[in-house]
Amino acid sequence: MSAESPPASPNAVPGVGQRLDAAQLAEAFEMFARASEELSTAYNALQGQVAQLTERLAVLLGALPAGVVMLDRGGRVGQCNSAAEILLGCDLAGRPWVELAAALHATETPGEMTVGEEAGARRVSLSEAELESGEGRIILLHDVTDAHRMRLQAERNERLAAMGEMVAGLAHQLRTPLAAALLYTGNLKQPELAPADRARVAERAIERLRYLERLIRDMLLFARGDSLGRQRFGICDLAGELVHTLEPLARARQIAFSSSCECGDATLLGDRKALGGAITNLLENAIQATEPGGAVELTARLDGDAVYFHIRDDGRGIEPAHQARLFDPFFTTRADGTGLGLAIARGVARAHGGDIAVESSPGKGALFILSLPLPSPEEGGEVTATKEPS
Ligand code: ADP
Repeated sequence: MSAESPPASPNAVPGVGQRLDAAQLAEAFEMFARASEELSTAYNALQGQVAQLTERLAVLLGALPAGVVMLDRGGRVGQCNSAAEILLGCDLAGRPWVELAAALHATETPGEMTVGEEAGARRVSLSEAELESGEGRIILLHDVTDAHRMRLQAERNERLAAMGEMVAGLAHQLRTPLAAALLYTGNLKQPELAPADRARVAERAIERLRYLERLIRDMLLFARGDSLGRQRFGICDLAGELVHTLEPLARARQIAFSSSCECGDATLLGDRKALGGAITNLLENAIQATEPGGAVELTARLDGDAVYFHIRDDGRGIEPAHQARLFDPFFTTRADGTGLGLAIARGVARAHGGDIAVESSPGKGALFILSLPLPSPEEGGEVTATKEPS
């Protein structure tokens, strides 16, 4: 191995002990000057780009219809646009966001707030995003006042249209039996009518008037909806009472009626009479849809935090086309039906946080399932006796 050191490269900086001659020094200075010139050109270009981006960002923020507030790591406003200042007030820079957020009031819609006084109040939707660098957050405030006003208007129009439809439906439903009753009573005036015919016509008029009375009662029940009571009662007590009420009807139609309640001492909280009415309606429908010799069954069982009432029959079943309309008010396939029974029953179930589902195929009977959430143990309620006065 040679002890000699390798020859120094022409550009290498001389080490300690080596002497720089004037030419090398000049070359080093020249290199330094070139590098620093390149650096300063690159720096100027970068500064130009930053200025351009800042200008574009400022124009963009100014043009954005949404309010943009940039918060620093400490939650203070670093930058904001004019839309944000219009919504939240001037001179936002440096102010803590918590202070500004206190002026925003929550609404019934999550993520939407109101800001400002009564008449001039605006509705804003607020969203925020963390900067990936962890250097702060961006708050976006979208003024949805006009959209909200239009939404309310559209909902009102929808309600009015539904009411109009309902009134037209009601008028139609009332007019037909009323016209029939008028016709029959008009016939009663005929002097030549034999006593037996007179009695028959009078009976028909009374029957139509009774139907009208039932229709009006059901309509009132349907419209009432919100005035439901709230008592605590045993599920099996209610089921037992319904069996007691419906058994004579089933027997008269020669239908085998069975029931079982697997709910022990579990209780429900709600309007016992309305819920009993809803299940009665499902049972009456089942009995009506079943031929003599058929069977109807009521079972009540718990599953999770809900109770399920199953009302099953082996009657004529329901066509798929009818299934979609079963719960529509006034939908009926029965000559003397009001078509309000299922609409009321579902309304009652939903008012208690539950629902009614149906499974059926033509010729193979039907299963209606009324589900209701069980009350939590701490929920109060007056306990009712086993039997309610009707
Ligand atoms: P209504 O009994 O006055 O007709 P409902 O709203 O109680 O009114 O019932 C609407 C329709 O649903 C009935 O006319 C009938 O066609 C159908 N329906 C309800 N329950 C059954 C069932 N268990 N089996 C077959 N069809 C049924």
